[in-house]
Amino acid sequence: MNDVRVRFAPSPTGFFHIGGARTALFNWLYARHTGGTFVLRIEDTDRERNTEEALRVILEGMRWLGMDWDEGPEKGGAYGPYFQSQRAEIYREYLDKLKAVDRVYEKDGAVYFRLEGERYTAYDEYKKCEVEKVRATPQVIDDRIRGRVERAEEQDFVLFRRNGEPVFHFVNVVDDLTMGITHVIRGEDHLSNTSKHCELFKAFGVEPPVFAHIPLILKGSGPGKMSKRDSGSLVEEYQRRRFVPEAVRNYLCLLGWSPKDDREKMEIDEIIRLFDLPAINSNNARFDEKKLSFLNAAYLREMPTERFMKEAWDYLVGERALTERGVDVEAWGEEEQRYFETVMSLCQEKVRSIEDLPDFVAYFFTEDYSFDEKAGKKVLKKGDPKARLTEMRGALEKLDSFAEDELEATVAALAAESGAGTGEYIHPTRLALSGTNVGPSFYGLLRVLGRERVLSRLDRFLSRLSA
Ligand code: GLU
Repeated sequence: MNDVRVRFAPSPTGFFHIGGARTALFNWLYARHTGGTFVLRIEDTDRERNTEEALRVILEGMRWLGMDWDEGPEKGGAYGPYFQSQRAEIYREYLDKLKAVDRVYEKDGAVYFRLEGERYTAYDEYKKCEVEKVRATPQVIDDRIRGRVERAEEQDFVLFRRNGEPVFHFVNVVDDLTMGITHVIRGEDHLSNTSKHCELFKAFGVEPPVFAHIPLILKGSGPGKMSKRDSGSLVEEYQRRRFVPEAVRNYLCLLGWSPKDDREKMEIDEIIRLFDLPAINSNNARFDEKKLSFLNAAYLREMPTERFMKEAWDYLVGERALTERGVDVEAWGEEEQRYFETVMSLCQEKVRSIEDLPDFVAYFFTEDYSFDEKAGKKVLKKGDPKARLTEMRGALEKLDSFAEDELEATVAALAAESGAGTGEYIHPTRLALSGTNVGPSFYGLLRVLGRERVLSRLDRFLSRLSA
């Protein structure tokens, strides 16, 4: 390990926002890229909101996205405790250090940090009164993403509130200092705090760490940044909706970072190899739900079949998604389980998400499948579907093998004979067999459903057409 130490310092609010997840991810990537250490620190000074549950949301989200931390909750480390709520003694000690160099004073029960510089009074438009201001030396931040940022604090600021609680700026700096953090990579919303933080580091007699402020994530459309009310903004939502975690992680990597070519789907090892701080874009990144869905579908398609099978089983059978669609899963034996696997290996290539899977595959498992009226109208208005389906039924009945190449040759022969396009056979047949016009490959569909199901479904459909 080299001496890079970065941290993700969430305040457990009960949500794991994708902005936070992306901040965590960029820290994790930087640690893995440099061979440094990734610390997870819990900024739980707001007692009301800090519950076990709020912490669990973050830890589970981190694990789900594959961001393992080297030090922190459940892991320990030489710089603990990693919960601010357990560091009160350290904060007292560091307050004493500031007292010793005469940089604090008390006023109205609160503890203030004293800036250095010439003092003067000025009218404060906001407070509508005269206030004391300070001409402090500007803090120059050589931000790895934003470039040079200069800002001077103008007023002494609070370190401990009247109730004795330390404020964010103080604990954040004391922790970064005592945990040996070398690079602070965090959201741009904290850029305006950085001059205060630099003042504090210097008052403690140490050089501030390197700062890198990551641009905001904008809403998918319209102005403003993503908030927790926007759909798609929480990691737990993707967990619940059974997205592929690698796909979500891959997508988050691209929110503000790119490999500088057109690649989007990338192995995490490759991203780790290429990731670096100056490579982060300083423009705001816009959330793109379509791109995320596209990546999710690509990861689903390319994942090992056994894993897809397991994901599918967990949801369709374990979580009763098929039961809810009228399939008597309880009655399944070995044969049905094998059939399930055949269906899944056929559908893996085409289904776009695990969430879509129940509706995508239900008709394989029940004769009582739903019928998409709109798709039906569209398909049935072309040519003479009844004639085509009757020919199709006749030809399929004569086949003893439902091998895909034979099925394909059969449809080609029918089309050649009638002069109708193969589509005039394929589309109404798919509709009859599945109740929809989307699904897996047509010949695969016939092969997997098998002769018996195919013929009886065609019969039923044909008698419906005649009715
Ligand atoms: N607890 C702060 C937050 O969640 C951490 C800020 C920082 O990374 O310095 O925004």
